Amino acid sequence: MSTVVLARKYRPRRFDQMVGQEHVVRALTNALAGNRLHHAYLFTGTRGIGKTTVSRILAKSLNCSGPDGQGGVTATPCGVCTACTEIDADRYIDYIELDAASNRGIGEVQELIERAAYKPGVGRFKVFMIDEAHQLTKDAFNALLKTLEEPPEYLKFVLATTDPEKMLPTVLSRCLQFNLRPIAPEVVREHLAQVLQAEGVAYDEGSLRQLGRAARGSMRDALSLTDQAIAYGSGRLSEAVVRAMLGGVDRGHAAALLQALAARDAPALLQGVDALRLQGLSAASTLEEMATLLQQMAVQQAVPGALDSAEPDHEEALRLAAALPADETQFLYSLLLQGRGELGVMGDEHAALAMVLLRFLAFAPTPDGTQPVPERPARAAAAAPRAPVAGAAATTAATATATATATAAPAPAPAPAPAPASSALLAAEPDIPPWLDEAPPPEDEPRPRSAALRVVPAPTLAVAAVPAPPASAAASALQAPQLTPLGDRWAALVRRLQEQGRIAALVRELALQAGALSCEEDGHGDTWTLVVERESLRTPALVEKLQAALAAELGRAQQLRLQPGVPGDSLARRDAWERQQRQLEAERRIRDDPAVTELLAQFKTARIVPGSIRPL
Ligand SMILES: [Zn+2]
Repeated sequence: MSTVVLARKYRPRRFDQMVGQEHVVRALTNALAGNRLHHAYLFTGTRGIGKTTVSRILAKSLNCSGPDGQGGVTATPCGVCTACTEIDADRYIDYIELDAASNRGIGEVQELIERAAYKPGVGRFKVFMIDEAHQLTKDAFNALLKTLEEPPEYLKFVLATTDPEKMLPTVLSRCLQFNLRPIAPEVVREHLAQVLQAEGVAYDEGSLRQLGRAARGSMRDALSLTDQAIAYGSGRLSEAVVRAMLGGVDRGHAAALLQALAARDAPALLQGVDALRLQGLSAASTLEEMATLLQQMAVQQAVPGALDSAEPDHEEALRLAAALPADETQFLYSLLLQGRGELGVMGDEHAALAMVLLRFLAFAPTPDGTQPVPERPARAAAAAPRAPVAGAAATTAATATATATATAAPAPAPAPAPAPASSALLAAEPDIPPWLDEAPPPEDEPRPRSAALRVVPAPTLAVAAVPAPPASAAASALQAPQLTPLGDRWAALVRRLQEQGRIAALVRELALQAGALSCEEDGHGDTWTLVVERESLRTPALVEKLQAALAAELGRAQQLRLQPGVPGDSLARRDAWERQQRQLEAERRIRDDPAVTELLAQFKTARIVPGSIRPL
């Protein structure tokens, strides 16, 4: 293949060769064809997107004299006349490009303005192109303004910027503005395929997909990366080679992590992150791969069958789309995008990745859809009698406060965090890693049922996007537990086991989830018949541990017989029911609160963030 780099060799030389900017091309060609010329143009858009290219084509259109030397202003420059060839070769004396990133001072601009005083040397128009125009100093802008306002008729300005926000409004108002858009990955892929075929380079679809995504909307970057990949792969492109070059992560890792998230399998999640670390795979790329898969999953969930079955990840996306509900797919996607920014903040990006993924487990409903994962601080506060939280709640019981988050003010005050409680929690359960602890909170303190409400401002945009407030929406399907004296006895017993710290992790989960059917007592001890829904909890090892804990608490032998089935009553169900009642009450009070009503009426953009209402 040629030694000329692809980005230069395949740089568009005519408007119809520009890829992915049809809206700009159409407007410019119509204007040129109708001879409706503006004296200053502003092209905006990210780097590598074609701003300089479109400026050069425009300069050719203005100056082209056609193959016979008789042509006029045209939307289809001939490519062979002096103006066309010299602009392409970057040596046309009436086309001047100034890079404001390196020539930003008033001196350079004054020099330019002086040159503007002279008529074009060879062409019809002088075209001044100022790239990265936002970098001009204020003095330079002001010096330019006069000429920009009343330019001689032979002078055209083209300003280009990646950051139009930084341009003076007086400059913006004098320019006809065109926004060049990032090019869609599939458009990049198609174009790369054409280029590679023209170059006779072998490739596979996977390599194009990788390159298309890595280009981030810039065709110039796509072509540069392709150049590198061809060199890296010794003249041919394969997905594995491109992925290795880009430092990318096999989609299998991303799929495995998503699977673990869907299954709420925190140990598998952390093992997955460890595997990435051990293999030296990038956490950032992993997040991107996961986000890409989530996007495919969301498409499948919204329009089943809409995914392209030719995509190699098709099967995986279908499987995961069925494993994770649509709202959680959306929620996770927003968490991941937000988490991308956190990776660089921590020294250890894999630890940051684990944190981002665990956040999903902390906020998402549990798989049975009935209980949110416990909020540990609140639970610890309840478990620690020394923590002054309950008292504080009581004193503020008469006031219901609410914060309505105005969308116009995206910086909500930090939530009042019951910080001292977490240490109490750690002291009580030193051995339990947090991810093993799925049990609902042991809220054994009678809770104030008054109007002590805390509206937790959503700490971030992503959290504000929690799909549904689990307690109010999911749990509203809960039915009241069927209370019996035997159930009360079992519940009290389990509470005691918790207080004494005799059960933890999955053993505690078993105790909480179990419904007592009968209890037979004889001279040797008690035999409980319990009904437990989750098969994973009905294991001999867990039963044995729970028997031992009960025996230690009661001082006599305990035997447990487990039956599969849905218990009409269990401590977990009682807690979930009670949480739901408190949640509904809290939501009702907030809705009816005069202060909230007034806030919502006053601020049109104010809204109560779904899920942000928490009972204290
Ligand atoms: Zn020409």
